[in-house]
Amino acid sequence: MPTFDFDLFVIGGGSGGVRAARMAAARGARVALAEVAELGGTCVNVGCIPKKLYSYAAGYAEAFEEAAGYGWQLGEPRFDWQHLKTQRAKEIKRLNGAYRALLDGPGVTTLQGWAALVDPHTVDIDGQRHRARHIIVATGGMPFVPEFVGREHGLVSDAIFDLEPFPRRLLVVGGGYIACEFASIFNGLGAKVTQLQRKSHILSEFDEDVRQFLAVEMQKAGVDIRFNTEIASIRRGADGLDVMLERGTHLQADAVLFATGRVANTQGLGLENAGVALDDKGAIVVDAHYRSSVPSIHAVGDVSTRMQLTPVALAEAMVVVDALFPDPKQPARRRKVDYEFVPTAVFTHPGVGTCGYTEAGARQKFGDITIFSSEFKALRHTLSGRSERTFMKLVVETKTDRVVGIHMVGADAGEIVQGFAVAMRAGATKAVFDSTIGIHPTAAEEFVTMRVATSR
Ligand code: FAD
Ligand code: NDP
Repeated sequence: MPTFDFDLFVIGGGSGGVRAARMAAARGARVALAEVAELGGTCVNVGCIPKKLYSYAAGYAEAFEEAAGYGWQLGEPRFDWQHLKTQRAKEIKRLNGAYRALLDGPGVTTLQGWAALVDPHTVDIDGQRHRARHIIVATGGMPFVPEFVGREHGLVSDAIFDLEPFPRRLLVVGGGYIACEFASIFNGLGAKVTQLQRKSHILSEFDEDVRQFLAVEMQKAGVDIRFNTEIASIRRGADGLDVMLERGTHLQADAVLFATGRVANTQGLGLENAGVALDDKGAIVVDAHYRSSVPSIHAVGDVSTRMQLTPVALAEAMVVVDALFPDPKQPARRRKVDYEFVPTAVFTHPGVGTCGYTEAGARQKFGDITIFSSEFKALRHTLSGRSERTFMKLVVETKTDRVVGIHMVGADAGEIVQGFAVAMRAGATKAVFDSTIGIHPTAAEEFVTMRVATSR
């Protein structure tokens, strides 16, 4: 019988890793977790949390503007970037401590350092070897930046939170989640933001109406979005960064943020020593139960090729823990995560909330579909003086009447769609939506009062 130091060794103390380690330990397993940086990973340190805090900060610019329409008279608001950075750092430090407590509580051994595999059951950290029956790789991802001349002058989202000084002119490259969110944030905080997207639309994976609607609203709010545009080179000039675009035009900027996707963190992990297979993008190949090509090694979160979202990493971690260290109160079984109706939000201004299929995706999957959509000025903006509009859309499978897609662009879209996602997972039909009484006056009530189909 081989002897092991631990029942489970988790590499990576981010969303997926911490969840797996603490839940396995709570079920009595001997667990170690290695983290090379701060506990909490991307989401806590350089992702969801600091991003959302900065998004709230940006939102105040709109609130100050709107207040006058409601009778408030304010002086000229001034924004203090240093203060925001300090407050954010304090809160993140508090969260790092909270994550430490989550691991200490059930008795996880936390090891600081870079972990690499030696073989299917052995992990090395700075020359110390640890043997474990099971290993979970949860090393997340990192930003990808394309090759071009002057690439070193660009920055990635990890660095933007502490950028010094505040960029008066910010160029954002990309049209995905991170690009749109940071374009909105820095626009709100007072920077002059230009966003360059290589395609003719932003948010490629989203519903076409959502993409178009959001682009118009972001432009109205002040973001200069340039479509079908790519960077040729960047060099430092007398007036900041001189950015040459592919069609020969120039832009000047104080900082250039590359938000051009993220790739799995699989380099330098010794995966080849253990025989773990990677796909053509360098992500760990896993089956429906997160098993890699090596039986003792699982992988969860951004390091494999699934949706790169914190709640997804958490759900995947729980599936693995349930399989390896079953809850004695539950029947042992190999569960799977169902990715069909995963809600998601883009924290732009205005925000996006979505769950299920886009119109195009639903047409491909279900054939006959019916669309209900609505566009309006929210009550708040009747007095606020802002021209921001709200968009809502339901995609319904005609044959079954099931709502298979919900999409919103507008204030609190993420908060609103989260609730509707429950109904969608429960299989709610359009008739169920119609028979639900609205809450008046809210924007969300529109989702239960759209009676006339826009198209079929
Ligand atoms: P991570 O959280 O990245 O954790 C991996 C950890 O492994 C890191 O702490 C890393 O230091 C450590 N590590 C790596 N290699 C080693 C090694 N060899 N040894 C030891 N430790 C190692 N998702 C949302 O759901 N909502 C959002 O609003 C949202 N906003 C985001 C904003 C930004 C700017 C970014 C970049 C991402 C955002 N995400 C958001 C995505 C979310 O952060 C990730 O999907 C999530 O963090 C993935 O969790 P994970 O456990 O797979 O990896
Ligand atoms: P995304 O995949 O969302 O977007 C990447 C963008 O970069 C796309 O617009 C893509 O263009 C563009 N791009 C890719 N390669 C190049 C290139 N070579 N040159 C120019 N443009 C390029 O990635 P993000 O980096 O924005 O975010 C990574 C992931 O993190 C997201 O997919 C999401 O899962 C997660 N995340 C979640 C958030 C949330 O839940 N609110 C917030 C932030 C991140 P094209 O459209 O043409 O493909």
